[in-house]
Amino acid sequence: MSYHKIYLKPKKEESLLRFHPWVFSGAIQRMEGKPEEGDIVEVYSADGRFLAVGHYQIGSISVRVLSFKPCEIDHAFWVERIRIAYQLRQILGLVDTPTNNTFRLVHGEGDNLPGLVIDMYAHTAVVQAHSVGMHRSRQEIGLALQEVIGEKLQNIYYKSETTLPYKAGLDNESGYLYGHDVEDIAMENGLRFYVDWQKGQKTGFFVDQRENRSLLERYSKGRSVLNMFCYTGGFSFYAMRGGAKLVHSVDSSAKAIMLTNKNVELNFPGDARHEAFAEDAFKYLERMGENYDLIILDPPAFAKHKEVLRNALQGYRKLNAIAFEKIRPGGILFTFSCSQVVSKENFRLAVFSAAAQSKRKVRILHQLTQPADHPVNIYHPEGEYLKGLVLYVE
Ligand code: SAH
Repeated sequence: MSYHKIYLKPKKEESLLRFHPWVFSGAIQRMEGKPEEGDIVEVYSADGRFLAVGHYQIGSISVRVLSFKPCEIDHAFWVERIRIAYQLRQILGLVDTPTNNTFRLVHGEGDNLPGLVIDMYAHTAVVQAHSVGMHRSRQEIGLALQEVIGEKLQNIYYKSETTLPYKAGLDNESGYLYGHDVEDIAMENGLRFYVDWQKGQKTGFFVDQRENRSLLERYSKGRSVLNMFCYTGGFSFYAMRGGAKLVHSVDSSAKAIMLTNKNVELNFPGDARHEAFAEDAFKYLERMGENYDLIILDPPAFAKHKEVLRNALQGYRKLNAIAFEKIRPGGILFTFSCSQVVSKENFRLAVFSAAAQSKRKVRILHQLTQPADHPVNIYHPEGEYLKGLVLYVE
């Protein structure tokens, strides 16, 4: 198979020689042939040395690298990459344990598959493409998944209507690549969840908070808990299992609140400690009393692009300031940012300003991040997107 060739401007090969997996459009000198978005291309230095092979895309990132060695992107390639990813999750002890069947199987650049996310929920894989190249490879990816996982894999749902570049003008092609509609119940650390991969946000569940939820469980005994931005209620059940006195879950989406209630009922039927509210976060925080002594703030990404970074930092400051103002003395705050463009330092600075504004004594107990099934490729530090702080507020 011969692929289209892209030649870089002189000296623009440096980041690729350091294994950074993207080629920016400004680095390109010329192209041989006319690749279409999603085609496989080979990248060469100005003096003709092979550098990488990857998916071509239109936009500021022109190529997402699949391999730094010459290779065919064929069935064997997909099987190998997915097998390596699956083996890592086995090493992490996440596959088929009696208490867990939910994990991220492929985390984009972190698994050397830029533009691809795959989450596993019991017998179902949910595949999400963030690039046209991955979209066009979805059938191949589905076949490789079946080969690697075998009979345990009963369904593959492809869901990319919100993640593909809008300008690519692709139809919404979400649907089953394999298997059919089932109600699979996922399990995380022994707690059970319904996952709505068809209509839910992201792939249906936020797998990345598993370890942070466990940590929260340890702090929950006897506390009054506010789970703000609860989505499907993840933190709430952990708090309940940890012995919380009461748990209030809040999300602006009525559907999320419905799911939270359904999941609480699944784990703790008839437990009166829990109540859920469909309400805007800022409105709720303003009107609530000062009764909570464990608060979780896990908002959606406030900044999706660099241009809106300043506003995002203001948003984090404002949100955290209300929590600092209202949390009971001796309270514990779990506060997060999942914006990739907000660095750990910037997030900490926003929380620091909020703390100073409240004039309370605040200490950092834990610094949190994403779990190991969301690995960060050391050559692509941008992959570290989840930041969290656990704070003790006197
Ligand atoms: N903590 C969750 C994930 C949170 S995702 C978990 O562990 O699964 C962010 C959530 O914030 C989404 O469910 C979204 O509906 C909600 N949200 C977005 N804007 C909001 C607002 N202004 N007020 C309250 N909730 C909001």
